[in-house]
Amino acid sequence: MAPLETTPTIRARMSRQRSRDTDIEMALRRSLHAAGLRYRVHRRPLKGVRREADILFGPARVAVFVDGCFWHGCPEHSTWPRNNADFWREKIEKNRARDRDTDSRLAEAGWASVRVWEHEAAAAAAERISVLVRDRRRPA
Ligand SMILES: [Zn+2]
Repeated sequence: MAPLETTPTIRARMSRQRSRDTDIEMALRRSLHAAGLRYRVHRRPLKGVRREADILFGPARVAVFVDGCFWHGCPEHSTWPRNNADFWREKIEKNRARDRDTDSRLAEAGWASVRVWEHEAAAAAAERISVLVRDRRRPA
């Protein structure tokens, strides 16, 4: 593994990414709960696929992923670290490819995936998710 740049900024980014139950995730869960929705957290939507969704609506088949701006290459916050730029770029590109792969596997299995950026307002994201979940619950 390449030597990592370990400025406080990078360390903060890394720790933010690795932690579960981030602020946005908790705020999102509170809003969804307040909207009367029930869900499970940190589960794999598909058996045999090692991808964990942050929030899951089983009957509606909706999987929510809260993506960290740095690690998933948010277009609004795409500041690339200068040191070890190739190393970071490769890592972030790999994450993005993995995200796309997860989404297509879920779609193939009849799931909808919702991606929420870490920087988004939780209330707006919760609204978007509620609409989708209720819509998918409706009998065809
Ligand atoms: Zn962002």
